[in-house]
Amino acid sequence: MPLSRLHRVPCLQNTSCVGRTAAICCSPLRVHLHGGASLDRLSVQLSASACSAAVKSSRRRVVPMAVAAGDGFTADANGDSSVVTPDAAEGRRVVIVGGGWAGFGAAKHLSEQGYDVTLLEASPNPGGLSSGWRTASGRAVEAGMKGFWYQYKNTFKLLEELQLPSWPLTDFTTSGFWSPRGLVTEAPVFSKKPRLPTLVGQFVYTFPLYWALPLEDRLTMLPFLATLADYVSSEERFEQYDKMSAYELFRQCGVSTRCYNEFLRPTLLVGLFAPPEDLSAAAVLETLYFYALAHQNDFDVCWPRGSTAELIFQPLVEKIRTAGGRVLGNRLVTGLTLDSATGEVSSVEAVDRSTGEIASYPTDAVVFAVGISGMQKLVSANPALAKQPDFRSIMELRSLDVIATRIWFDRRVATRYPANVLSGFETTAGATFFNLNDLQDEYQNEPGTVISADFYHANSLLPLSDQEIVDRVVSHVATCEPGFNGAKVTDSVVLRFPKAVTHFSPGSYQHRPFQATTIPNVFMAGDWVKGVPHGANGLSQERAYVTGLSAANLVISRLGGNGQPAQILDVEPDEPHIAAARAAVRGLREVVAAAGLRSPFL
Ligand SMILES: Cc1cc2nc3c(=O)[nH]c(=O)nc-3n(C[C@H](O)[C@H](O)[C@H](O)COP(=O)(O)OP(=O)(O)OC[C@H]3O[C@@H](n4cnc5c(N)ncnc54)[C@H](O)[C@@H]3O)c2cc1C
Repeated sequence: MPLSRLHRVPCLQNTSCVGRTAAICCSPLRVHLHGGASLDRLSVQLSASACSAAVKSSRRRVVPMAVAAGDGFTADANGDSSVVTPDAAEGRRVVIVGGGWAGFGAAKHLSEQGYDVTLLEASPNPGGLSSGWRTASGRAVEAGMKGFWYQYKNTFKLLEELQLPSWPLTDFTTSGFWSPRGLVTEAPVFSKKPRLPTLVGQFVYTFPLYWALPLEDRLTMLPFLATLADYVSSEERFEQYDKMSAYELFRQCGVSTRCYNEFLRPTLLVGLFAPPEDLSAAAVLETLYFYALAHQNDFDVCWPRGSTAELIFQPLVEKIRTAGGRVLGNRLVTGLTLDSATGEVSSVEAVDRSTGEIASYPTDAVVFAVGISGMQKLVSANPALAKQPDFRSIMELRSLDVIATRIWFDRRVATRYPANVLSGFETTAGATFFNLNDLQDEYQNEPGTVISADFYHANSLLPLSDQEIVDRVVSHVATCEPGFNGAKVTDSVVLRFPKAVTHFSPGSYQHRPFQATTIPNVFMAGDWVKGVPHGANGLSQERAYVTGLSAANLVISRLGGNGQPAQILDVEPDEPHIAAARAAVRGLREVVAAAGLRSPFL
């Protein structure tokens, strides 16, 4: 989007912003192109106080829900086609704030069930953290590569429902795990192998591949694996594990230093984007169980065959519109009105970031699907939210920094694996790189190599220049695949996402919100909400999508009407030996407690 279109809302209140515009000064995520151009991602970064100033000073209008406004997302040829008459919609209007997986999950289901849905997204592009766009020269860029894991049943079902011209994902791929000393191991495609009981299958099939870590180090993981049987035995146990760091848990379990440094720490830096000393032990147990340990095939992963925004979110936008919903980009929600008589939110206010106009959207229910930073800004700016302890508690949560790069080389370099995890290349950040020639249709016949490389927990890398970041990536990939030494970079894009990703820090569980809130018609969705009865955990698109569906179900219970709840597919249940181990631990706890003995567990 041209920057000039953002200079319309004067920012009056925030003194650090004097003389600048709200859209610019309130630090939307800046996206720097290596060639010197720059784009605004226009995401969650708008300062809430400055935005309320902008709201006060700008033109206002009330948007009847039956009238679709011009929208920021591309190609809305028939944005008004789905008009719902106001009478029919009365009592069933839903505003969804945030257009990532969570917001789209809620919007899709509610619009299909006949609710009068308006999704408001601050960015011009749909998809949130899974979004992408094209640079001025037409090159596709994305907020990092996102994998779709074996247990993403609801996402796969959605992709079938979209009836896309072709399946948008690759087959499951192998991945290489690298240290600066060379290849450490390979993740095979487990679902291509005969299925064995969980843990046995993973051990048998990775045993010959784990070249770097001696067996005695791997065996030190066994006591840690035993805690898996314990941690979910009750909500209370979960909270206890949440208060300790994963590092403490590994230490208590006697995990070897080598296993910790060479396997667990790097894995968590790319899995939960933080080092184990700054991660909740409970979140780590949940995530490892969901992605790798519950069933042999859980670690199998496939990748989008192109831009997720284009392949998946644009068709989703069209589907919602066809079902009667409105999906409006460039709408930054800044405020809401609480009806003092009912204690419910009666309208939501949003700035149209392309015109500076403020609009008020009357509603009967609201779903916030905005991520932690976005929600913190809304709570700070809205006394109606700040008065409620559950919303105030969100201010205690933290989020993490990510850098995504895309680099074009002048020649083809064959890589052993399409997906690669880098450990120990940066002191405090994790990294991955992907060979897009092997994964994405657009690059199959490209004369040069195209890679996507991401840094997680990238705090210390954010201040580096784009060139320095690109140089680091090139040096890292050349360490793994020496063929890159002879290749020249012809183009590159560096995208920075400060405070964009959920941080499952120790003790954070108590502050994470439930989906139902103390405001009866306001619901929460996103990978960070708690109390979702589903096995998908961690930083997961599937989890975010599922929370959107379950928020939709809460809206349906609240508003009534003929809407049917979304059918949510759970992950495969625990295998019998894991279920038996969990039952045994529960039993042991009861016996120990009844005998007044000290528990062997946490
Ligand atoms: C680099 C990277 C790699 C990842 N890898 C994977 C992976 O391999 N597999 C996987 O499953 N997951 C992965 N994830 C995690 C996954 O992307 C997230 O879990 C998921 O996208 C979160 O979706 P969400 O809808 O909860 O939130 P988000 O995607 O953050 O969406 C929130 C939306 O709300 C909007 N918003 C915020 N404030 C406002 C406001 N006031 N008004 C209007 N709109 C607002 C934002 O612009 C944003 O679009 C990765 C994430 C990153 C960053």
